[in-house]
Amino acid sequence: MKTRLFTPGPTPVPEHIMVTMAQPMVHHRTDEFKDAFVEVNENLKYLFCTEQPVLTLTSSGSGAMEAAIVNTLSRGDHIITVNGGKFGKRWGKISEVYDLINHQIDVEWGSAVSIEQIRAELDKAPDTQAIFLTHSETSTGVFTDVEAMAQEIRSDFDGLIIVDGITAVGAHEMRFDDWELDIVVTGSQKGLMIPPGLAFIALSDRAWKSTEKSDLPSFYFDLGQARKAFEKGDTAWTPAVTLIMGLKESLAMIRREGREDVWKRHARLAAGLRSGLTALGFKLFASPPSNAVTSAYLPKGQEKFQKVMKERYGITMAGGQEHLKGKIFRVSHLGYYDEGDMLTFLHYAERTLSDLDIAFEAGVGVATAQQTFSTLLSTQ
Ligand SMILES: *Cc1c(COP(=O)(O)O)cnc(C)c1O
Repeated sequence: MKTRLFTPGPTPVPEHIMVTMAQPMVHHRTDEFKDAFVEVNENLKYLFCTEQPVLTLTSSGSGAMEAAIVNTLSRGDHIITVNGGKFGKRWGKISEVYDLINHQIDVEWGSAVSIEQIRAELDKAPDTQAIFLTHSETSTGVFTDVEAMAQEIRSDFDGLIIVDGITAVGAHEMRFDDWELDIVVTGSQKGLMIPPGLAFIALSDRAWKSTEKSDLPSFYFDLGQARKAFEKGDTAWTPAVTLIMGLKESLAMIRREGREDVWKRHARLAAGLRSGLTALGFKLFASPPSNAVTSAYLPKGQEKFQKVMKERYGITMAGGQEHLKGKIFRVSHLGYYDEGDMLTFLHYAERTLSDLDIAFEAGVGVATAQQTFSTLLSTQ
């Protein structure tokens, strides 16, 4: 049986990148590595749309989240976080470890925070030093319009806007400099199409300034050290060399396709899958939806859907997390996916619905998605 991965991290790794990563080990203090790392760093800036350094850390994405906090904030600082999913909630959890005062906005999981909610919280906590947003909330499949929100907040807020872009970077338009964001983090196993193990973080001038007065402890995640090394085409600690060699290839792919076209492809795949699932009778969960992951309710009384897809057809998708366990499923179109992958998913979804004796119009999922793709291809 052929197996296929439809999870929003780790995501599939292109075959030629697997081969690249199987080459003999390179030492990290050599010109060979340095040349690769310098190219990676240039392409990361391209992807983030920034002139700032995008630092590469050896950790999963959460390491960059922690780095964002410990380098820029101080004990007792007021912050605003959004609990609209597991990852938004994580900002709050990290901040509690470091004795920050967390003003948490609770949003119904499946919906996005509104600008009015942020405004109201800012009015209650005018000393806020940082606002944390999640551009694509992977646990629910919800998209937050960070561009509009940052523009609105910036008009009278001069604290930090810190964004979890872990499943947004590479899937959604994200212009770090133009949108005046202060920190964006992402991870390697999502839109960057390589295995888990690297995290990335960019800081604005304002964020770098706040690193000077931060009193939180850090050693491994001291971004000042990382930046010093970065300027010499180097890393502070032994990097995950193999992953960086793979990343060089995956960023080259993004560069060849062009970031704008990568964003468009994600929008098209997401729209196609959503339309196909809806045509099959599934009810979508997230509003507004992310272009990285689609979430939908499991068919009523048929929690087996996910299990049958995996065991009979080799399709691995993600389930719901926390209280959404057993209620929703999540399908990735983040990174190395094309239209054919979406049609394959819909085809096996139809098979599984048949197996479970759930009524639907045969072929309608695939046909509807194809129609959506054609329409978007002619208008995008
Ligand atoms: C995956 C993910 C994380 C956590 O990243 P890890 O690599 O698991 O540490 C954080 N935020 C979002 C939105 C994610 O998708």
